[in-house]
Amino acid sequence: MKIKDKHFKVLLDYEQISKRVMELAAAINHDYEGKNPLFIAIMNGAFMFAADLMKHVHIPSEITFIKVNSYQATKSTGNVKELIGLQENIFKRNLIIIEDIVDTGNTISHLLEDFNTLGADSIEIVALLHKPEAVKKKVAIKYQGFSIPNKFVVGYGLDYDGYGRNTRDIFELLE
Ligand code: 5GP
Ligand code: MG
Ligand code: MG
Repeated sequence: MKIKDKHFKVLLDYEQISKRVMELAAAINHDYEGKNPLFIAIMNGAFMFAADLMKHVHIPSEITFIKVNSYQATKSTGNVKELIGLQENIFKRNLIIIEDIVDTGNTISHLLEDFNTLGADSIEIVALLHKPEAVKKKVAIKYQGFSIPNKFVVGYGLDYDGYGRNTRDIFELLE
């Protein structure tokens, strides 16, 4: 598949993704019974994953959205900026951060610091994808979808320069 000037091939198809998303939701339903979690989905990349995951979360819970950005085209700038901040009071809440992908770990570790400062009771991460080879700041990902090679990926919410978010499958860059 071609997006703008680059070629991609399928890494994970929608069937594999859906199956794993349901497993992640089942684990969360089990662990968070009676805990009223507040899900915080990181826009834009996590929008599709968050929507599919939440269809299978059956415990009482809330979801909200924040926006951060550290990527320019296909490279991390390592410079995380919070673009749209959190409106909810997270004091004493059990938070579950929904991320599309943990790459260097910069974004998530920055968010963990902020949420800790604001007095959350517990914070766990559900990330669809993880690139273990790219990690610079190690964070514990309690609910992880897939561990993938250190290649740029698009689709299922993830973009290449704004494009490619609207696919069911996840694609990797051909270089
Ligand atoms: P970090 O390096 O801080 O862990 O990753 C920050 C964010 O960059 C991720 O949440 C994701 O939105 C984006 N990102 C990381 N790796 C990729 C990738 O391979 N493809 C795309 N499209 N975005 C990525
Ligand atoms: Mg993201
Ligand atoms: Mg992006």
